[in-house]
Amino acid sequence: MNRSSPTDAAPIAPAFTGTTVDRLSELRADRGEVERLLKHPRAAVLGASADSVLIDADGEPRLLRRPVEGHVNPYQPILLGLDGGEPLFAADLDDPEIQSQLEETGRGRLVSLREAGTLLPQAEGGLAAYLVALLNWHRRHRFCANCGAQTRVAEAGLSRRCPTCRATHFPRTDPVVIMLVDDGQGNVLLGRRLGLAEGRFSILAGYVAPGETPEEAVSREVLEESGVRAHSPRYVASQPWPFPASLMLGFEASADRGDDPVPQPGEMVEVRWFSLDEIAAAGSFETTGADGHPHAGLRLPGEVSIARMLIDAWAARGGRRL
Ligand SMILES: [Zn+2]
Repeated sequence: MNRSSPTDAAPIAPAFTGTTVDRLSELRADRGEVERLLKHPRAAVLGASADSVLIDADGEPRLLRRPVEGHVNPYQPILLGLDGGEPLFAADLDDPEIQSQLEETGRGRLVSLREAGTLLPQAEGGLAAYLVALLNWHRRHRFCANCGAQTRVAEAGLSRRCPTCRATHFPRTDPVVIMLVDDGQGNVLLGRRLGLAEGRFSILAGYVAPGETPEEAVSREVLEESGVRAHSPRYVASQPWPFPASLMLGFEASADRGDDPVPQPGEMVEVRWFSLDEIAAAGSFETTGADGHPHAGLRLPGEVSIARMLIDAWAARGGRRL
């Protein structure tokens, strides 16, 4: 067994990571600097709804850049940052007026964020996730969690401020652990959640609870969802998942084959071990699209997800965890 091969150490770079935008944290509070960026000749605005982004339908796939004029509220701008010398602002496409203005060019195409994750180059996909995550937070935090008054955009979109109780609110990100559990004998634990189609399995996942470490969440969630005792969790990689505000923390963990997995009532429909052969066959079926494949019954998560990346990396190592 060669556990130190370069393949083992190859970093995973999930979709929605790798934005190169400078968030300009140091100058956001300076009203004059933000006004200067709004008037910059290369300033542009990117549009997104709760789960979709506007991409440029011409040429290389990228997010559609439109002039700032008329698309950004100059009193409460949401600045994403500086991208290659280009100041970028965000516009909420759930606002019907802004949506019609941005789409009227004919160049824009609204695609789901998941689709954007497969279409866009790495850094642009990371920017798309940042855009959606930030707008989702503003959309859901219009009122103060402390006193209930209406809040205002502050620091060019980095925070919101309450004029009544003077509380400052910063963007929320909810940590979720997602873990590939391996039995040490070439099998992996997958579950099918309530509401998912027959055959659509994924690795287990769940929110980190208050007062809990991600490692503790891995063991707890696996036990709750499957009845299996997982141990030795190891962090692998993470992925922003702004549906609406999660950060997926990807782990691998081990479990001893004892009792059969038992799905958690009301949440999981099926939980079972899958062999490397079953995983490999399901993966190749999805990429080739061949009809009548013997393992067509198992459908793995979409390739944009960190779940799929963890499964593929495990399969590429011959069914071994890191
Ligand atoms: Zn308040």
